[in-house]
Amino acid sequence: MKALVFDGELRLTDIPIPERNGEALIRVTHAGICNTDIELVKGYMGFNGVLGHEFVGRVEAAENAALIGKRVVGEINAGCGKCEKCGAKDPRHCEIRTVLGIAGRQGAFAEYLTLPESNLLIVPDTVSDEAAVLIEPLAAACRITEQLDVNGLATLIIGDGKLAQLIARVLPLSGARCDLLGKHAWKRDRVPLPCKTMALDDYEPSRSYDLAVEASGSPEGFATARRSVRPQGTIVLKSTYASKLHLNAAPIVVDEVTVLGSRCGRFEQALSLVEDRKLDPTDLITHRFALEQGVEAFVASRGSDAMKVILEIA
Ligand SMILES: [Zn+2]
Ligand SMILES: [Zn+2]
Repeated sequence: MKALVFDGELRLTDIPIPERNGEALIRVTHAGICNTDIELVKGYMGFNGVLGHEFVGRVEAAENAALIGKRVVGEINAGCGKCEKCGAKDPRHCEIRTVLGIAGRQGAFAEYLTLPESNLLIVPDTVSDEAAVLIEPLAAACRITEQLDVNGLATLIIGDGKLAQLIARVLPLSGARCDLLGKHAWKRDRVPLPCKTMALDDYEPSRSYDLAVEASGSPEGFATARRSVRPQGTIVLKSTYASKLHLNAAPIVVDEVTVLGSRCGRFEQALSLVEDRKLDPTDLITHRFALEQGVEAFVASRGSDAMKVILEIA
């Protein structure tokens, strides 16, 4: 099968179709490029192999016959199945998990992938393939509401990229009063009400926010969050960087600010938001490429005119 592999350089190559080993074999139809993929190509996590963790596809082989032929999305953390976390059906913090296209597991920028059947959710017919590809990052946005009651919080979202955009759509549904701070006018224009937007150049922090969500993908975003949040407020960190964040901890202690890391969410919540027409994430898609043009797709995804870049695989 064709696959987009990173092994120090990103290239399209032919590799064997993965062995099932009791998991479901999925024919990938669409996949999305995420900032994490761009960071992985810079060396984040030291991952080598097939990249990609946002996908929709059809099950070709599985133990559970009811899954065969079904259109599915899949949660990306695959646990050991034995530890306490896995026993509670939440492998996101299993200590020996593998993560699709990120850690110890071949990813979705290929014609086929495998995942445990328990990771899969069947996509309702009313949800398009392009919306389904965005369920993974949408679930990551929803994760904040799983960790924190945001109802009524004055919230600053830092960044105007894909993840920040999804967060700006999700948090108001849970009652947060949101402002979004971004560099690019055309991206700010995509943010729907009730979230308000502000240009980064004109912004003067005043320590007035209950909650700041750092989703800019840039380490400077943390300093902006720090200057924007009130004493005893909360900073949520959503970006994973290949580079290191330097921070002065003393003011965080003095102001008793809570710093909360936030990663993967549950797909069920994200899927029902789309199914119930609470939001439509597909307006974030700016580019579409064939798998064979995967290297070009990565170049495009770093362009100033790009938000979500989709690979159309089958
Ligand atoms: Zn991602
Ligand atoms: Zn486990």
